[in-house]
Amino acid sequence: MSDSGVGASNAEPGDVPDELAPARIDCIDCGGVAHLLTRPDDTGRFWPGDLLTYRCEDCLDRWDLIIPDGDDQTHAG
Ligand SMILES: [Zn+2]
Repeated sequence: MSDSGVGASNAEPGDVPDELAPARIDCIDCGGVAHLLTRPDDTGRFWPGDLLTYRCEDCLDRWDLIIPDGDDQTHAG
């Protein structure tokens, strides 16, 4: 068996992708690349409930996303 692809990862070295707060997302409006403007907390990472602001480099539109909470079921109350 031979691997069809060696290191098929589009992650750049030194840039650790974060599930909660990806550095780049696809613009919902034009499909361009929206960059994360929000900086992580003093801990160096983001947490559920944090507000993420993205700016599209194509249409310069702004997107505010809230990091969803964990897999914990939320009870409306
Ligand atoms: Zn856009």
